[in-house]
Formats: sequence, C-alpha cells, structure tokens
Amino acid sequence: MNSFVLRIFCIGILLCYTEKFVSAQSQHFSMDDYYQIEKIDVHTHIHTESLDFVSLSKRDRFRFVNMAVWSDLNPDKNLEKHRTTFLQFDADRDRTAPVSSFPLENWDQSDWAEQTIRYLEKTFKQGAVGVKVWKNIGMEFRDKNGKLIMIDDPKFDSVFAYMKAQKKVLLGHLGEPKNCWLPLKEMTTENDRSYFQENPKYHMALHPEMPSYEEQIAARDRMLAKNPSLAFIGCHLASLEWNVDEISNFLDRFPNAVVEVAARMGQVQFQSSRDRQRVIDFMMKYQDRILYGTDTGVGADSNAVRTYQQAHEKWLRDWKYFNTDETLSVPELTDPIQGIALPKEVVEKIYRINAMRMFPNCWGQ
Ligand SMILES: [Zn+2]
Repeated sequence: MNSFVLRIFCIGILLCYTEKFVSAQSQHFSMDDYYQIEKIDVHTHIHTESLDFVSLSKRDRFRFVNMAVWSDLNPDKNLEKHRTTFLQFDADRDRTAPVSSFPLENWDQSDWAEQTIRYLEKTFKQGAVGVKVWKNIGMEFRDKNGKLIMIDDPKFDSVFAYMKAQKKVLLGHLGEPKNCWLPLKEMTTENDRSYFQENPKYHMALHPEMPSYEEQIAARDRMLAKNPSLAFIGCHLASLEWNVDEISNFLDRFPNAVVEVAARMGQVQFQSSRDRQRVIDFMMKYQDRILYGTDTGVGADSNAVRTYQQAHEKWLRDWKYFNTDETLSVPELTDPIQGIALPKEVVEKIYRINAMRMFPNCWGQ
C-alpha cells in the first residue's frame, strides 16, 4: 500500500514538473504550430460557386466569415454576392459563416426601412449571422436631394433595432484609413498608396468638399452611441488603424464593439516598427476585443489556387508577426519589421476564441 501511495505521489510530482517544463518551453506558438491551430479569418468575400478556396484552406485550418457587401452600383452584382455567399454556406456549414447587407437604391421610398427589414429577415432565415455596412454610406450614396447619407441617419434606427432584437452583429467598414485624406506620397503604407492611386473617387484628399476623416468617425460613433447594446465589429480596426491609442479609446467608450485587423496590418506594423512595446501592450490589454481578418476576395473568375496561395502567404506572414520575434518583410512597408511574439493564449483569442464568442452558433459550434 505504502509503495502504491509513493508511486502515485511520484507520478504526480513528475506530471507537475512536466507540465511546467512544457509550458515554459512553449509560451509561444511556432511556425509549425500554424498547421495545428484552428483559426478564423473574419473578413473574407468568397463569391464563387467553386468550393476550391475553402477546401484548400482546410490545410491551414482556416474557417471564415464570408461577407456579401452592398458595394456595387449594379444591384444584380450585389444579389449575386448574396447568392454565392449562401451557396458557400450551404456547401459546408462548418467552414463559412455568412454575413448579408441591404440595398440603398430604394432609400427615397417611404417604406425603405420596412423593405430593408424584410430583406434582412430573408437573409437571416438563410443563415446570415450579421450585416455589413460599407463606406459608400458616408462617402458616396446620396438621397434624391443630393444629400450625402451618413451612418447615424435616423432612417437606419429601426433597422439596427431589428438587428439587435434578432441578435445579429453589425459589421462596419465606415470611413477609411486616415491615409485616405493624405496626399499619396504622405501615406504610411504601400497598400493604401496603391489602392487610392487606383481608386481616386475614394481618395478623399482629392475631394475636399466631402466629409473629413473626423466627421466620418464622429458619425459612426454617434450611431454606436444610439445603439449601445448592438454587437459591432469595427472592420479594418474601426478606421482608427493609425494609432493604437485611438483604438483603445474607441474600445473603452463602446463596450459592445470589437475590432478586426483586415488590410490594416501594415499600419499596426508601422507603429510597432517605431515602438514595439506600445503595440504589444495594446494587444495584451485588448486581447478579448481584437479579431483576425484579411479581406481576402475570391470572385467567380478568380483562379482559386492562385488566390489560395496568396492568402496562404499572407496568413503565414501574419502568423510570424503575431507569434515570433523574428524579422520579416511585408509588402505594406519598405523596411523589415520585428514580430511581436504574443503569448499563445492571446493568439488563440485573436485568431479564434473572440470570433466564436461574437458568432456563437457558427462553424459547427
Ligand atoms: Zn472587405
């Protein structure tokens, strides 16, 4: 009996020691762990009948939030995005979570809100877990009198109230990175420089008659203040990507809001290249409020293998940045940057746990 107790005691000691040793050994994920850890990319636009992209991404253990955005001037193209978003969802409900959006073309009709709620109800029945609003609200769309529509317009109130009652998430790409209001040569990242060069209609430095950066942010904040219990994802770091202190301030003011990093990693890396600890402190403090996303798009004409390959390379670069202290080059910046080596448990929150909390019934949960 005594030797049995002693044996159990020794095994216990050994287990404790081993556990400590292993956790001390592996506070951080390695590059090899990339292929073992389940991940969610909360910002994608997979609008094709081909299942290849999603299927190839299984190797990377990536699942997706797939957004149909009402961003095209041709309504048929927006409806087609909805069709393919639900097609992807129905093909494998464990892999993508669909997000819908709503038309603005009928804005001037007196029952716009009722029509919109009916449309959203249809998408919710198809499985939509959230609704995306885009920068055309605030930057492009005008009513019949030529007045620019901002996101805090009272006409949206009943639509957002309906979404809240249905426990749906609002995802907002509202405003643009601050770079959008700067001349091309003053922009901090290469991806912003090339995007605004190619899309001058959205390059606000060329359109001084349009609302300022601060006005866009203020309209979004007024909308959130009106809807304090609506779950909100500030896409692209809530357009506050240029300063982690601004994002902190935003998250402190709106407890039901979170942010995702899609297409703004360059701005985060720009800041960590100047003050690495400041970015680490931000990620640690707001580890429950930051989600991973890339803004990867797969169209009907896309070469799925090539698109997957590009996404795969981007996912690996971001994994290296978040998990290691190695130096890496990124296309968004001219100078190499050092990774921020976040602890494993923080990475798991950013890459999966926070998304699962925001969308509790998705991905076969
Ligand atoms: Zn997007």
